[in-house]
Amino acid sequence: MKIAFIGLGNMGGGMAANLVKAGHEVHAFDLSEDALAKAQEHGCAIHSAVPEAVANVDAVVTMLPNGAIVKSVYTGEVIGKAPKGALFLDCSTIDVATAREVAGLAEAAGYRMVDAPVSGGIAAANAGTLTFMVGGADEAFGKAKAILEPMAKAVIHAGAIGSGQVAKMCNNMLLAIHMIGTCEALALAEKAGLDPQTFYEISSKSTGYNWSLNDYTPAPGIGAPSPADNGYQGGFASALMLKDLRLAMEGAAGAGATVPMGEHATRIYDAFVEAGGGGKDFGAIFTTL
Ligand code: NAD
Repeated sequence: MKIAFIGLGNMGGGMAANLVKAGHEVHAFDLSEDALAKAQEHGCAIHSAVPEAVANVDAVVTMLPNGAIVKSVYTGEVIGKAPKGALFLDCSTIDVATAREVAGLAEAAGYRMVDAPVSGGIAAANAGTLTFMVGGADEAFGKAKAILEPMAKAVIHAGAIGSGQVAKMCNNMLLAIHMIGTCEALALAEKAGLDPQTFYEISSKSTGYNWSLNDYTPAPGIGAPSPADNGYQGGFASALMLKDLRLAMEGAAGAGATVPMGEHATRIYDAFVEAGGGGKDFGAIFTTL
């Protein structure tokens, strides 16, 4: 297939390369010259503007920083420029309302669209092992799945348009909450006189088990390998977790949902980022306890 890929940053660069490896003709655009040069090395055809990249494709994939940019790229540079009937896949993490609005505008103009945000970081984007949570009609999902598979370990249909973003905000709110809880339990165990490695051995096989404890232990030298073992460098930046928590708080307000733990987690990450921790892995909350 001919696929346009817009947004070749930390995540999009590796994803576009995996589409090339799967045999697709990938037409790439990014505002960054560096990102474009890397895409060209990975076998993408590069373009000097979005309308040129999308002019003759079957599908458009976007991996952009936020909802305002996604809306401006689709409304200003993709809708009306890509061939009618093309499938749009927005893989960015954005707010549910913007995802639904942009899809509505695309569909009114004769396109099909899915929201397809991802779980998994830069390593999974490079390795082609992301989990995609996809919102959209059944027929659009079927076509989207075939395009997403070379970048994925799982492609899951979440429901109607916007459902992918709902799944993403709920997942990451839960992740923030169990990460903070895991940090607190490890710090409490140590302060109360229990060897934290022994606590890990016990709790990871007891009812306290969860991904942050078992697979990404946020205390240096304890349990599973994680960025904690490397000064909290790499991994999933606290600033990105804060972005996702803010999206979840907006989504909760829009849906009339009560999320006291989510609100508390947002305050904790907000304070941590404000104090200069935005670039550190989100497990670095452990260092504040
Ligand atoms: P990034 O900032 O590295 O990449 C975004 C790219 O978009 C940049 O290269 C930028 O130049 C480009 N861009 C911005 N505006 C543009 C425009 N108008 N036209 C064309 N290109 C434009 O960000 P990232 O880490 O790759 O994240 C992308 C998305 O994926 C975000 O929505 C993020 O929340 C989500 N996400 C990131 C991770 C992660 O671990 N980094 C994990 C899951 C989801």
